[in-house]
Amino acid sequence: MHFCTLNNSDIRVTFENAIFNGLAPDNSLYMPVEVPQLKSSFFEEIEQLSFEDICIHVAEAWIGNEIPREHLANIIQDAMNFPVPLNILGDDTAVLELFHGPSMAFKDFGARFMSRVMSYFWKDCPQTLDILVATSGDTGGAVALGFFDVPNIRVTILFPKGKVSALQEMQISSLGKNIRAVEVDGTFDDCQTFVKQAFLDPELKRNFRMSSANSINVSRLIPQTFYYFLAYKKARLAGFDRVIFSAPSGNFGNLAAGIMASKMGLPVERFIAATNENDIVPQFLNGGEFKPRPSIQTISNAMDVGNPSNWPRILSLFGNNIQRLLQILSGHSFDDVQTQKAIKEVLNRYNYLVCPHSAIAWLGTQQTPSNGALRIALATAHPCKFPDIYPPEIIDSIVCPKGAARLSDAQQRKYPIKNSYVAFKEVFKALG
Ligand SMILES: *Cc1c(COP(=O)(O)O)cnc(C)c1O
Repeated sequence: MHFCTLNNSDIRVTFENAIFNGLAPDNSLYMPVEVPQLKSSFFEEIEQLSFEDICIHVAEAWIGNEIPREHLANIIQDAMNFPVPLNILGDDTAVLELFHGPSMAFKDFGARFMSRVMSYFWKDCPQTLDILVATSGDTGGAVALGFFDVPNIRVTILFPKGKVSALQEMQISSLGKNIRAVEVDGTFDDCQTFVKQAFLDPELKRNFRMSSANSINVSRLIPQTFYYFLAYKKARLAGFDRVIFSAPSGNFGNLAAGIMASKMGLPVERFIAATNENDIVPQFLNGGEFKPRPSIQTISNAMDVGNPSNWPRILSLFGNNIQRLLQILSGHSFDDVQTQKAIKEVLNRYNYLVCPHSAIAWLGTQQTPSNGALRIALATAHPCKFPDIYPPEIIDSIVCPKGAARLSDAQQRKYPIKNSYVAFKEVFKALG
């Protein structure tokens, strides 16, 4: 499988090149030259396939023979080693729990797959690879845990001081070894700017082999297609043959992957792009202009994105034709008050606690009549990652997995810097 870019459909790069470049040299995003098509026999037998079988089949369609099958199978066994339950709540509504990986957010799918694939290609390179990544919270933890102790690869994570939850900060800063946490006295956007600047810095480019791990990387997108197929299998086993997905969206990587899965042949009746008040996409889908703007801080902070970078991918899958897009996608946005109300409503109705992001996905499902289809809200994080947003009467309903409790007494190692690129560069060079 080869990749071209959104700006230039004549470019051809391998999967390996696409993942180490991250962003294409023409500053646009890599796309598969053609979305691979899965055979109808795959869907006919999907109910009998294990999650591992499904992942391998889908990954092979994407990657072809660039990674031999036995290695790909090992990568998948190692990366996707946690359960993905489909929890049917009632009223033709279900949640797909994507938060049972080590960082307790769905970003584990992308980060764990990416780290193992990069390590596969990089393992015989003499030079150390430096991964730089800016995070508003969840990406950092998933990338840190995904790359921890991977030989020959170092990770530098930039996070904004005081703007990530305590648990998120511990996930980023407690590992040590090849994972270095830099605490920037600024915003997520500042962190992102420093990363971009580092990639353009001639001195750093001379002395370091740098790559990024952000959500536009195709090696994060591919594993996010896997669970859409799994959800479909589980829905079929539960007696539904039609599905609707509601994705709580920020940078729109999750939804882009779902739409790619449908383009590969997965029968999906409808997608719902559910956002918080950062409603650039819902505004556009509901007849407005596409107007990126600085992000607004909300209680679903992993979705506080004002310029969703994967959106052009989604548009391109419909030939940039909004009418065709609207046949399968609707957009809805919800504010913090609605999110808090939804958390209580889901708890009261189904005795089930959702995180604020998953609450928005659930609200999305409620905007769409089921007509006999199963409406699946993608639950993207474990509620215990965000204890501060729950009112006192709910806090006792949070049951934390064991690992989360252990983390709270771990030791932190972080490098605090003031809000300047020069300060970042000094620390990065000193860390060597
Ligand atoms: C990153 C994240 C999202 C948003 O996903 P995108 O792919 O950026 O749209 C939603 N929920 C949680 C918990 C996240 O960490």
